[in-house]
Amino acid sequence: MEQKKIIIANWKMNLNLASGSGLVKELLASINDWKSPDLEVVICPDFLSLTPLAEQLKDKGIFLGAQDCFWEKTGAYTGEVSPQFLSELGCKYVLVGHSERREHKQETNAQINLKVKAALGNGLIPVICVGETFSERQDGNKDFVIMTQTAAALAGVKLLSTDQLIIAYEPVWVIGSGQAVDPEEAEHAHRVIKQVLFDHFSSTVLNEQIRIIYGGSVKPSNIKSFMIQPTIDGVLAGGSSLEAVSFMDLIKQAKF
Ligand code: PEP
Repeated sequence: MEQKKIIIANWKMNLNLASGSGLVKELLASINDWKSPDLEVVICPDFLSLTPLAEQLKDKGIFLGAQDCFWEKTGAYTGEVSPQFLSELGCKYVLVGHSERREHKQETNAQINLKVKAALGNGLIPVICVGETFSERQDGNKDFVIMTQTAAALAGVKLLSTDQLIIAYEPVWVIGSGQAVDPEEAEHAHRVIKQVLFDHFSSTVLNEQIRIIYGGSVKPSNIKSFMIQPTIDGVLAGGSSLEAVSFMDLIKQAKF
């Protein structure tokens, strides 16, 4: 079965509850203008906004994702967020291993692997972020880094027939820069990721349960050039998801 293309908004730590809720209100006010049955739309707000936004988005066909989760369900883990609680709240997706967490929180591939398993074990769809830094690219290690991060995140991961998984290729050096990589370069990286996925999963699982998306300075003006690439199943958008007008435009431009 053909999987839906997907657009995931990563609000990071940019919008508080009032501004996030206002943005969602604007989106819902003209939902018939931009929503398409072929395109899944997901919003990943900060943790504090998840509960009220879950209420606001209930039965609206826009899905909720968290920006991270811990690898244990419950217990003495001060400050962490349980994947089970996220699932109970109505989250469908969770970002795992975003480059900003790898950089600022020193998240390791081993921790990311634990989080992927915990997300799946609690009914969430992990969106595993992989991508090279500028110096890794300059050193000619881009493909190696992407392959290593993908393989490490998936070590020992088994997908049940109801599970899904997303890999987000995000070249770290273009995130938030306003300048995306060439769509052909993203397409090449996606093919590299697909090779790693073939080592872990059957082609049926790959076609029906796994999507690969691109992230890094995607805007209304360039989204189509990514979406038309054969192995790009959608995008992860930061900056262009922070205002209703540009996010709705992004979604409209993505359709083809
Ligand atoms: C991101 O950080 O996941 C991202 C894609 O950000 P931006 O779109 O702002 O580059």
